[in-house]
Amino acid sequence: MSGEHSAVAIVGAGFGGLGMAAALKRAGTDSFTVFEKGDDVGGIWRDNTYPGCGCDVPSHLYSFSFAPYRSDTVRYPGQRDILAYLQHTTDLEGLRRHLRTNTEISSAEYDEAATRWTLTTRDGDRHTADVVVFAVGQLHRPKLPDIAGRENFTGPAFHTAQWDHAQDLTGRRVAVIGTGSSAAQLVPRLAEAAGQVTVYQRTANWVIPKPANEFGPLTRHAFGRLPALQSAFRAATYLAADLGLSPVVSRGWSARPLTWLARRHLRRQVPDPVLRAKLTPNHPIGCKRIVIDSTFYPALSQNNVDLVADTIERIDATGIRTADGTHRAADVIIYSTGFRASEFLVPLDVRGRGGARLHDRWTGGAEAYLGIAYPEFPNMFLIHGPNTILGHNSNVFIIECQVHYIMNCLRLLRDARAVEVRAEAMAAYRQWLDKTLAGTVWQAGCQSWYQNPAGRVTNPWPMSTMHYRRLTRRDPRPAFRTS
Ligand code: NAP
Repeated sequence: MSGEHSAVAIVGAGFGGLGMAAALKRAGTDSFTVFEKGDDVGGIWRDNTYPGCGCDVPSHLYSFSFAPYRSDTVRYPGQRDILAYLQHTTDLEGLRRHLRTNTEISSAEYDEAATRWTLTTRDGDRHTADVVVFAVGQLHRPKLPDIAGRENFTGPAFHTAQWDHAQDLTGRRVAVIGTGSSAAQLVPRLAEAAGQVTVYQRTANWVIPKPANEFGPLTRHAFGRLPALQSAFRAATYLAADLGLSPVVSRGWSARPLTWLARRHLRRQVPDPVLRAKLTPNHPIGCKRIVIDSTFYPALSQNNVDLVADTIERIDATGIRTADGTHRAADVIIYSTGFRASEFLVPLDVRGRGGARLHDRWTGGAEAYLGIAYPEFPNMFLIHGPNTILGHNSNVFIIECQVHYIMNCLRLLRDARAVEVRAEAMAAYRQWLDKTLAGTVWQAGCQSWYQNPAGRVTNPWPMSTMHYRRLTRRDPRPAFRTS
């Protein structure tokens, strides 16, 4: 494939890359290539195969507007079904022949004279493109914890995003480190099979109830008779999340009722006061990603499940020792310890105009205009770039806003060879973003994947998605220069 040229190169075939590819196709562009390091489309929905994996946003909303998910029975499909949806959408939109799977892009370099990007794969093949769109996501590089002795453990040990299906956990003593959204989905399923599950919690999370995976008989009946109601359900879910959950970010009106709801959920689901005390968070709601789940707390009350809230001191050959001196033996350790989310576009080497290195520009933390474009990097766009991921609504909505905006930028290339966001536009956006972030609950002192190690909030979008939609519906011309 060396020497191939496309008008647009897309890196990543998850929701973001596929959404971009479908928009190009629908606009009549055929000259695009989607590079994917894995062996199929799907991104995180291909990689995460741990038991219980699914999405806590109903698929009626967590799906493309041009390929709406429809089911009159299932509200929350599992990982396999979401992956199947993405595979099906790929086929339906005619995107397969544009895909280069098992092809990891390791570098991208802009040639100013030729106004072209050269992409080099891990195997050394080269591909040129007029435009590059990075859609590599934020939550795809597993983070293993920096715990002393980790390498000394002699049993199987793996990350939730790299599930080892060869391991039969039936009857075994399983240690799970971490209590985020992944662990909340995994632990109840593990508890069904494992002999003993010990869950190591560093920070208690706020957990709010999640409705049942399947609709009740009344809704089924209504959806069955009037399928158009499913669009109304999508709209209602969207509005409820945007109007009800996004104010939590700025410590607005819904923080209180949501805290009340989470406390009631904890009280109702955890009768044991000692366990309840351990599970009571000490940070304001929304400071970390809220867990939406109704099965985690009951699982923690099972006889074969223990929650350990003492600090882990070290891992040794046979188990885990906590700071109080207790050693708990384990046959298997599962790291549900999250992702290297703030390391945007790592390990890619991206060079723009005059050889500018993107990672040199981002030493203080990744940033981009609307999370989409960056000065000195013409004809380069990001999907789910800095400060655009959501914890309170559908990320597919944000992707579609970004695709819409990028398509408008690409239209500018009908009369130009290069389009680049102006440094002044970036500076004004940065100023607005800093001011907005300063008032968010994310600055309330807790730590999460929302921040980089220096404490700068680099990942989530700080306002409603309606606001983001408005910004990305604007004409890009005042913010961009063409040449
Ligand atoms: P996460 O939210 O980053 O949670 C990581 C967990 O590991 C935290 O409990 C963390 O504790 C703990 N941890 C990390 N390093 C540790 C260490 N050295 N010692 C002890 N504990 C340690 O990761 P995740 O659960 O995989 O979820 C990541 C994101 O993926 C979520 O926030 C969500 O946005 C997304 N997700 C979504 C869904 C969904 O249904 N939509 C499902 C799964 C994941 P601390 O809190 O103390 O750092």
